Amino acid sequence: MKLFISQIFILLVSNVLSQNPSIKVLDTDFSKGRLQNVQTITLNDAVKLHGHLCDGLVVGFLGLKEGLYKLYPDSIIDRTNNRIVSKPSPCLTDIAIFMTGARYQYNTYYVSDSIKYQFIVQRIDNEKTYGIKLKPGLMPTAIDSLGRLATKGELDACGIDSLRKLESEFSTFLLSKNPQDLFIIEEIKNYKWLPVLKGNFLKTDVLNKKLQNCLPR
Ligand SMILES: [Zn+2]
Repeated sequence: MKLFISQIFILLVSNVLSQNPSIKVLDTDFSKGRLQNVQTITLNDAVKLHGHLCDGLVVGFLGLKEGLYKLYPDSIIDRTNNRIVSKPSPCLTDIAIFMTGARYQYNTYYVSDSIKYQFIVQRIDNEKTYGIKLKPGLMPTAIDSLGRLATKGELDACGIDSLRKLESEFSTFLLSKNPQDLFIIEEIKNYKWLPVLKGNFLKTDVLNKKLQNCLPR
């Protein structure tokens, strides 16, 4: 039974990663180099940084891709030229730094739970700014309610597996759609970069790390 459940998850994850979205980025070409290193980065690359595939990573990748294309109409994202504010979820924060090149220690990145978007991303050279969020009603309400229980440690082993399945199915749904239909992306005029540096957010993706496997009843 245990094997059967893990096989289902391998299938769900490989299904999502088979639709591995990508984005072209521009970086410098060595430690003191010129801005001429063009490379393609993918959702699968982000999974390796983040540690796992999850719906938050998919939401972030697709939403930021759409928002960054508005900042860079040539569709090559300059990862030396962005600032970003992210909601505090561990998945959104990792994808935010990965795709934009923004970093806390260089005053180009901070986290806030009071913004009305999932991300606010700003192109530094022209200060053009967009707020990005998933359209309301797309995420199944059960992901939210079960997620809340999991964060409080109130979801048992089999409940955690159900949540994982729901999130995987939601990821597959998102990847099957045109991202333009999934996100609200609004320009924010005269956005002022006013970072508030906080280090006490809850890292919700490690709270259940010692949970036993779901056993057959
Ligand atoms: Zn995650």
